[in-house]
Amino acid sequence: RTVYLNGEYLPEDEAKISIFDRGFLMADGVYEVTSVLGGKLIDFEGHALRLQRSLDELEMQHPSSRDDLLEVHRELVRLNDITDGMIYLQITRGSAGDRDFAYPSKDTAPTIVLFTQAKPGMADSPMAKTGMKVISIADQRWGRRDIKTVQLLYPSMGKMMAKAAGCDDAWMVEDGAVTEGTSNNAYIVKGNTIITRQLSHEILHGITRAAVLRFALEAQMKIEERPFTIEEAQGADEAFITSASTFVMPVVEIDGAAVGAGTPGPVAARLREIYLDESRKAAL
Ligand code: PMP
Repeated sequence: RTVYLNGEYLPEDEAKISIFDRGFLMADGVYEVTSVLGGKLIDFEGHALRLQRSLDELEMQHPSSRDDLLEVHRELVRLNDITDGMIYLQITRGSAGDRDFAYPSKDTAPTIVLFTQAKPGMADSPMAKTGMKVISIADQRWGRRDIKTVQLLYPSMGKMMAKAAGCDDAWMVEDGAVTEGTSNNAYIVKGNTIITRQLSHEILHGITRAAVLRFALEAQMKIEERPFTIEEAQGADEAFITSASTFVMPVVEIDGAAVGAGTPGPVAARLREIYLDESRKAAL
């Protein structure tokens, strides 16, 4: 695999960063994951905008322009011959050659890394047909989940708890209501209404979420942005998640209770189809 590190395209085993990098020592970094379908980037603009917002919130320098970033994404797709898959991008605050809680001076060069992950046929994931099972766990992350930082230990623990329970993912709960999945936004469906938590510091502002809600409105569905409980979700007609790498994925079981008929529902299936069609058309 050819990866990108600070302006250079390199074989992956030649890409090296300092042990003093604050991404490594302090999780002082942000990231984005953009899907590639048919060799083209899905919602690049949304990811570029959210990246800038994450960097601004953390007073971190952007080492690249939007146009250069697009070029690097495209070049990696080409060099690695990616048809379907993902591009991972990470920017950290870099290193001033020592460990210190205070940020290093503004002229410290950030570290920027991009690499590809091939996922042939990712849009035809079998899970879209079977649906996924989730458990609920307490949300024990920090309070600025709207910033897409690389502090992913708790979501990673959540994924392991789900696996140990024979499930696919965990929905996190705070003050009695679902915040989101470990790496996705969470939704329930009641009749023609889609219910999902409103944007705040408590959840990541999903790029797929924004697109799916837009397509749902265009398809005459109703949207309620509000918190919901696990009990409400278990009694809903349908449940699903969204993320850049899973698109729209039905959830058929929550803490052992079947949602609706216990099989993927029509609303999630329709939204998945619309999302994939429209995103492919607009891909860069
Ligand atoms: N919430 C969390 C906690 C996530 O990690 C992700 C994916 N990175 C999402 C939601 C979905 O965001 P997006 O649609 O932009 O991939």
